[in-house]
Amino acid sequence: MKIVMLGAPGAGKGTQAEKIAAEYGLPHISTGDIFRKNIKEGTDLGKEAKGYMDAGKLVPDELTVRMLLDRVSGDDCRGGYILDGFPRTIPQAEALDGELKKLGEDIDFAIDVEVPDENIVKRMSGRRACPKCGATYHLEFIPPKKEGICDECGAELTIRDDDKPETVKKRLDVYHDQTQPLIEFYEKKGVLHTVDGTADVSDVFEAIKNILK
Ligand code: ADP
Ligand code: ADP
Ligand code: ZN
Repeated sequence: MKIVMLGAPGAGKGTQAEKIAAEYGLPHISTGDIFRKNIKEGTDLGKEAKGYMDAGKLVPDELTVRMLLDRVSGDDCRGGYILDGFPRTIPQAEALDGELKKLGEDIDFAIDVEVPDENIVKRMSGRRACPKCGATYHLEFIPPKKEGICDECGAELTIRDDDKPETVKKRLDVYHDQTQPLIEFYEKKGVLHTVDGTADVSDVFEAIKNILK
């Protein structure tokens, strides 16, 4: 089963992808997480990506596509995967499609997590992430048991560099301009499903399970 998560930055793609991954035993592939790991490790890829990310812009397609195709060619991806944050442009979606076509495969589900722009800034300003294990929390909506500390691994939670309100606004513009057209792209392929992302995490997850079953 191959799943693509669509939705604005902060819509809850990562939160839901993590739950789907656990439920169905599929790898959760987040291009944002891969970039952040590379930045932390100081790789060339990380150095190249950082400027774009901090500015709220997309990392160029060529670099992103190469990285993603390499990742999905891994052995652990043979039974499918969940893509979170990829594709983000039509050329990225076409590149993925082209590669899948060679294997006689296709994306089975594209799940659009819908959250209006008005809710997004609040989502992002309260987001706290674990730099060690990648778990995501929200100060108000999904607080950790102990303030500032990851439930999963005990590391200190951090604010993402690109979650400042100015950068979030820029990222939303980029989303509407470059990523939203993917909704129509997957609709035409007949695999698009929409869920209300303003509901509670568990209700959104129920809706997704109903789609996947
Ligand atoms: P969010 O969870 O808020 O949607 P991500 O963690 O997915 O954010 O992405 C963070 C940043 O990483 C993006 O703003 C962009 O700069 C870069 N990035 C992630 N995925 C892609 C992609 N598929 N194409 C281009 N840039 C990407
Ligand atoms: P994305 O991967 O789409 O950028 P995240 O999964 O990181 O989104 O979620 C963005 C923020 O909103 C995080 O702080 C997360 O804890 C919180 N969040 C996710 N889903 C919900 C929800 N259904 N209701 C309230 N807050 C949520
Ligand atoms: Zn952690």
